[in-house]
Amino acid sequence: MSSLFLSMACAEPKYFYLQYIARARQNGTTLLQYSCPRCQKVIETPAAPSGDVWDTMATCPHCNGLYLKVVTDTTVETYIPPEE
Ligand SMILES: [Zn+2]
Repeated sequence: MSSLFLSMACAEPKYFYLQYIARARQNGTTLLQYSCPRCQKVIETPAAPSGDVWDTMATCPHCNGLYLKVVTDTTVETYIPPEE
């Protein structure tokens, strides 16, 4: 079973994302919704603690596009990397 799990997870980034969000929701983590800057589909991400700003490169679970994500406790802003 574990090898099947691994091969599925490797083949499907969206699967990882869904597991991650399901776990966050179970833990009572605040989730924020935003749209992918490339495919415009809705993505959820855990909110940062109040007063914190998280800026990270992220990969869209829907289109696998790369973008920069800036998360605060209430907002998410996204940017397509400037080299494109
Ligand atoms: Zn996308």
